[in-house]
Amino acid sequence: MPAQTAFDALYASLDDDVVASGSVTRPVPTPTTGETLHELPQSSADDVRDAISRARLAQLAWARAGFAHRRRVLLRAHELLLERRELLLDLIQLESGKTRGQGFEEIFQAASVTRYNALAAQRVLRGRRRRSGIPTVATTRVRYRSKGVVGVITPWNYALSLAAMDVVPALAAGCAVVQKADDQGALSILALRRAFIEAGVPEALWAVVAGPAGEVGEALTDEVDYVCFTGSTATGRKIAEKAGRRLVGASLELGGKNPLIVLDDVDPERAAANAAHACFSAMGQLCVSIERIYVHRAVAGPFQKALVAELAAAKLGSALDFDADFGSLASAAQLERVTGHLDDAVAKGATVLVGGTPRPDVGPWFFSPTVLTGVTPEMRVYAEETFGAIASLYLVDSEEEAVQAANASEYGLNAAIFTGSVARGQRVAERLEAGSVNINEGYRGTFASVDAPMGGQKQSGVGRRNGPEGLLRFVEPVTISATTGVLQLPRWASEYREQAPLLLLLARGLAALRRR
Ligand code: NAP
Repeated sequence: MPAQTAFDALYASLDDDVVASGSVTRPVPTPTTGETLHELPQSSADDVRDAISRARLAQLAWARAGFAHRRRVLLRAHELLLERRELLLDLIQLESGKTRGQGFEEIFQAASVTRYNALAAQRVLRGRRRRSGIPTVATTRVRYRSKGVVGVITPWNYALSLAAMDVVPALAAGCAVVQKADDQGALSILALRRAFIEAGVPEALWAVVAGPAGEVGEALTDEVDYVCFTGSTATGRKIAEKAGRRLVGASLELGGKNPLIVLDDVDPERAAANAAHACFSAMGQLCVSIERIYVHRAVAGPFQKALVAELAAAKLGSALDFDADFGSLASAAQLERVTGHLDDAVAKGATVLVGGTPRPDVGPWFFSPTVLTGVTPEMRVYAEETFGAIASLYLVDSEEEAVQAANASEYGLNAAIFTGSVARGQRVAERLEAGSVNINEGYRGTFASVDAPMGGQKQSGVGRRNGPEGLLRFVEPVTISATTGVLQLPRWASEYREQAPLLLLLARGLAALRRR
């Protein structure tokens, strides 16, 4: 635990912010040592319903307060986030086991998302005129009404930034949020929320609950007006089924098996260093990190050599500073998942190019970043998402073969292309089946582009977060049309007989004038 008294002062009482009326708690361990970090209160289904009722009341005033007020509050929260970055970084590291550098990416992302939504909400969501179907006879405008109470469910891996990517646009759009924090990400979320409360977000407007999915998650998705879910494809499917039955909307940000194509015109050493980061940032426990590398045979030798050298020399550690290149896997369950995939692959003939060993000398769930070759379809690691510390390397003979292999997956979340020519990268990007494609970067180009939509194709999800698309999730468009009285629209047969030729003339005239 860090020694700062500021840490104690600011965060000692964070657990009290969970909506939980009982006395049940759950010990949450830190990946840095495996010891208990804190005791997280567990909410009940009644607590969830109570939080939703209070959020409903708070939402009415928040929606009425208007864009300018919400912008002021969110920009103040942005400032507080940046001011508190060191303490937030400590928390992220202690809770997730990732390095300070990778924690910094989370805070930068949360701040970017906050700033973007504070400043963009009014432009995207203000009411505006639309063309009416019959010019001069009617005027039409669209206004956007906040959906109400949004249920946000986030996993443990990027708790702070994933929370921000759903909660902040919901708040900016005038909604309230009840969030089910994963036990292991709760402290980061509660600290983020605390900054927003101090900036002026009413307590009840953003409530955090915690506890087992069967009780807390179900109670949440039973009652909210919209669901933002981030997690596995299997759970996403259940959430979608329930949202479908209730006829409420849902955005689903799910798993991936993200490919990287290394073309024959790269600088192999630079490509290898970038690939190491793309695969093993947060130890691969990142939805958009790379698990499949397709490298052109022409550069495969030097690329492979440089990748092995980079990874073998990388420093693993858990200190609360910028010292280590890679951190820990997040939990014993994650270590089991990774070793399960590795053992299965090796038993079926895969070769470990680098890594492949647990590192208890550094911490209980540390594992060396691992690259496999000789991976074949019968191995689990071939098509299943590992979500941690293993990447498979395949040789290809052409750009065409690489594109085909990259697309041969049930997932379609993120993809990357390393090339000496951005124009060539752009051409290849057009052909990849993924919600985001990064050229000469693993994921950060698109991840940080908060004005652009982020999400998955195929089994990787439905809907988009970030950008105008991310804001539009949280409103109901209402179309309001008023007749002007210039002309009476036909009602009786005689009126239709009279006006039909005129309306046909109008339709042809509008097409000739290219008027929508
Ligand atoms: P998970 O098992 O699906 O759990 C995610 C969250 O959903 C947890 O808080 C879980 O609570 C809750 N949950 C489970 N069943 C639920 C239900 N029936 N109703 C409501 N909530 C329920 O996912 P995970 O394994 O923790 O997270 C890793 C996965 O997330 C990976 O597949 C990764 O690719 C994906 N992910 C995707 C993105 C993206 O943006 N596309 C980002 C990050 C992660 P409990 O913990 O209590 O079970």
